[in-house]
Amino acid sequence: MNYSFKNMKLMLEQKRFVFKKKYGQNFIIDENIINAIINKSAIDKETLVIEIGPGSGALTIKLAETAKNVLCYEIDTSLREILSDVLKDCKNVEIIYDDFLKRNVLLDIKKYKYNSLYVVANLPYYITTPIIVKLIEDNIDVKKIVVMVQKEVGNRFRAKPGSRDYNSLSVFLNYFYDVKKIMDVSKNVFMPKPNVDSIVVEFNKKEKNLSIKNKELFFKLIRDSFRQKRKTIKNNLKGYDLEKVEKILKKHNLSLSSRAERISTEIFAEIANYLAI
Ligand code: SAM
Repeated sequence: MNYSFKNMKLMLEQKRFVFKKKYGQNFIIDENIINAIINKSAIDKETLVIEIGPGSGALTIKLAETAKNVLCYEIDTSLREILSDVLKDCKNVEIIYDDFLKRNVLLDIKKYKYNSLYVVANLPYYITTPIIVKLIEDNIDVKKIVVMVQKEVGNRFRAKPGSRDYNSLSVFLNYFYDVKKIMDVSKNVFMPKPNVDSIVVEFNKKEKNLSIKNKELFFKLIRDSFRQKRKTIKNNLKGYDLEKVEKILKKHNLSLSSRAERISTEIFAEIANYLAI
């Protein structure tokens, strides 16, 4: 099947499909974009791929060609007929019609045998961050994540210290993954056309995480440090042992008057480890 705008539109019209804004439904209608995502993902026949939101299956059908198995989660049951039609020859695809955020993914993937677990998707924009956080917190050991997201959200994911977009999520993600942009994507490759531009970002799991004495303390320190973005570390970290915090900051030419946006994941780790002693 050729995923031209014409074909896709025709099929969705024939099936009387109504796009639902509440589910963030902007389907990719450009085969080049889909091919680029597939190529960059470097999936092989030993890989299990999770796709959140297959939509009308444009990406799914290509994932099925390259992966060992594809496990999809789709909230919109009105896509059932379209998906079974488009994917009728893909025996290695399973679709769970449910809200991904409510699933026990560890249980869902138990029956699969694979070497690596990847997530490849054009994510529904209204829950992009909760999906990424769930993928990390569920401990399902995702080796690589390749996702299309709203440009400004993607920029926060990959932001570095000192940049406008750097926030607690950037630090949190950077602890687990190397995050980089793969490409910019124009609004014109979607149906319906969204108001904002998108980017494709790639997350590669770090082979070795920084050693952290007390992870709970580390993540709380990050959250608290960014609690009020305009405030200094001194003001955001009331209740912490500020002498210890200052000692580490000074080592890196920072001070209690610095803002969290200037502090890297490594420095946060050092502070948390010193606080844990
Ligand atoms: N993959 C398709 C494509 O690229 O053409 C569709 C992508 S569209 C941006 C997002 C998809 O996620 C839609 O099919 C939508 O119904 C689905 N979706 C939205 N919320 C979801 C949720 N909580 N769980 C699972 N799927 C969801």
